[in-house]
Amino acid sequence: MAAHAGEKAQKTGDFYCAKCDEKVHVTSGHTIPKCPNGHSEYETRRNEPGNK
Ligand SMILES: [Zn+2]
Repeated sequence: MAAHAGEKAQKTGDFYCAKCDEKVHVTSGHTIPKCPNGHSEYETRRNEPGNK
């Protein structure tokens, strides 16, 4: 499931840039920003238990 910068996040979680794998944390209902390297396409993955 992919997401793009400028869209509203439907769920809180971490988005990983499809180009450079940079992680961006987005809260549900907030607009997804571009990644720090200027990309706008994300692969979405939920926070996984035990990932901290
Ligand atoms: Zn990127």
